[in-house]
Amino acid sequence: MLTDIKSLTREELAAQFKQWNEPAFRVDQLLDWLYARRALAWDAMSNLPKTLRAKLRENYSLQILELARRQGSPDTTQKFLWKLADGAFIESVLIPANPALYGEASDRHTLCISTQVGCAYGCRFCASGLDGWKRNLGIHEIVEQILAVERESGKLEAENRKSMTAAAVDPATFKQPPATDSRLVNNIVVMGMGEPLANYDHLIQALKILNAPWGGGIGARRITISTSGLAPQIRKLAVEPMQFRLAISLHGATDEVRNRIMPINRKYPLTELTAACEDYQKLKGRMITLEYILIAGVNDSLEQTRPLATLAKRLYAKVNLIPYNKVEDLPWVRPAEEVCERFLAALEKLDVTTTLRREKGGDIDAACGQLRLKTERALKATTL
Ligand code: SAH
Ligand code: SF4
Repeated sequence: MLTDIKSLTREELAAQFKQWNEPAFRVDQLLDWLYARRALAWDAMSNLPKTLRAKLRENYSLQILELARRQGSPDTTQKFLWKLADGAFIESVLIPANPALYGEASDRHTLCISTQVGCAYGCRFCASGLDGWKRNLGIHEIVEQILAVERESGKLEAENRKSMTAAAVDPATFKQPPATDSRLVNNIVVMGMGEPLANYDHLIQALKILNAPWGGGIGARRITISTSGLAPQIRKLAVEPMQFRLAISLHGATDEVRNRIMPINRKYPLTELTAACEDYQKLKGRMITLEYILIAGVNDSLEQTRPLATLAKRLYAKVNLIPYNKVEDLPWVRPAEEVCERFLAALEKLDVTTTLRREKGGDIDAACGQLRLKTERALKATTL
């Protein structure tokens, strides 16, 4: 199988072009086609000589995510189900920060991306792990989620159409890809399907590409990685030069609660996880977020608030409370609204910076893995 072109950095492409005796400016022309214009095929790259296009085609693939399903409307949370080259499905969720409730255009968009097909960690409440783990996503499959959503959303369609038909871009007038604020997606949360830190190398390379000014142009501080608690990888992330934000899926402030719902806690119990987070926080000097899904009768007792507050303070972390999203076939439910509000108030009283998310997208199966699970199961049912 060929390496996909969207898994290489500018430096790596430059080395390849040098080896081919291609002038250096061709690299930027190629990057412009890939990341600014989101080209669908080699032949669209009209300002690259045919011989170079042929060399590229021979040596690299140019995979495009195929849209299998889309749910939601442009001014609310939208879910995209993608079919990969091998037939596997993954999801991305586009969340507008200002859902145009009063008619104003929504300017900031966050894209929640997947890093694996399925998940091996089997948290009891989560749809992503229900049918197990299939494979890691390739670098290009992580990167393509952003480009494919932008393509589908058509925001830059008109602009692109203009530049697609423009005469050959010559190096003298070559423009850098558009700055972050002209892109549709300007925040990324790695909170879709899969455990990002279990696909560490692909994740970091993909985020490098999405962060670079010649690539996605999305600031590292606008990229949040969420993990269920892989302590050694958190330490590894701490020494990466890029300043990503880190979110820990805690969901329980004691080993007793975490062990019940998250098998990973048996491997890396809270003492180990918090020590890794503490090191991360010290090295990076950045605030960590503790994600806490509220599940009725499992982790919503006020007894959890004290150990949670102690932990949050030790890590200089804020707490993000998320009422559980119902998953078909699973028994768990979200607590009543008053219970969530009481939990929030108790944490605030203990001086912890806390937010309670009033869920966006609950109605369209936005909790990770659900749309894919439904689709895969429906497909299996029809082929049996
Ligand atoms: N594997 C990583 C990232 C993907 S999960 C992790 O676990 O952090 C992203 C977030 O969605 C996690 O905090 C996860 O616990 C949460 N989540 C999973 N299923 C959910 C559900 N049904 N309702 C609400 N949040 C859910
Ligand atoms: Fe995997 Fe995260 Fe879901 Fe746990 S919560 S099963 S780690 S995707």
